[in-house]
Amino acid sequence: MLRPLALFGGTFDPVHLGHLRAVWEAAEILQAEVKLMPARLPPHRPPPVASAPQRLAMLRAVLVGQGRLGLDTRELDREGPSWSVDSLLEVRREVGFQRPLVLLLGSDAFVGLPSWHRWRQLFELAHLGVLARPGATLQFCEELENEIAARHRNDASALLRQPWGGVLTIPITALDISATRIRTMLQAGQEPRFLLPDALLADPQLLEVYRHREAIC
Ligand code: ATP
Repeated sequence: MLRPLALFGGTFDPVHLGHLRAVWEAAEILQAEVKLMPARLPPHRPPPVASAPQRLAMLRAVLVGQGRLGLDTRELDREGPSWSVDSLLEVRREVGFQRPLVLLLGSDAFVGLPSWHRWRQLFELAHLGVLARPGATLQFCEELENEIAARHRNDASALLRQPWGGVLTIPITALDISATRIRTMLQAGQEPRFLLPDALLADPQLLEVYRHREAIC
């Protein structure tokens, strides 16, 4: 079987240890190469505080030496809203029709899937890997429940028998870290040590955008 490729989208404003630990655990369970795919203009939320080049600089700093975790910058390079379905279409064309592709997303993002642009088409391009904290009970609307009913797979090997079309719940260690809280801490002059990768704290310039601003969160 070809090595699966998993993509993890987000604003990464900034990237934090909650993101990184979650994708690391997914990479191990799926035996996959994982790429973080920052969105330029996330369609479902306010624009990020840090610019695309600033968020990219943070991601690059954090991913130095991380052989298994890479970066996919296509959404930053593309004008307009960052529709995941457009990105997956491009990636599917690049990797061909055999290689398993997995779109990773947090369970909070997954429950909102029916509001995504052409969301049903996602299943024709990739699997969905739902990063779920242990004990979390997810409430799906009927539309989503109907769509995923026949797509649930029990484990990674069942999922990866096909290149796309399944849904796997991936249990992850619960790390209650959010970029919103980190921005608030930085704005208040606190240091989010042990919530962020050391590479971000080592270079004062990388986080400067979040300091000394009014009402950024
Ligand atoms: P914000 O606080 O600005 O909303 P965030 O910390 O939720 O940001 P995003 O970049 O919006 O980060 O999230 C990207 C993806 O990471 C989403 O699918 C989200 O569910 C997931 N995610 C965010 N924080 C965590 C965490 N602590 N553990 C696991 N997944 C997370």
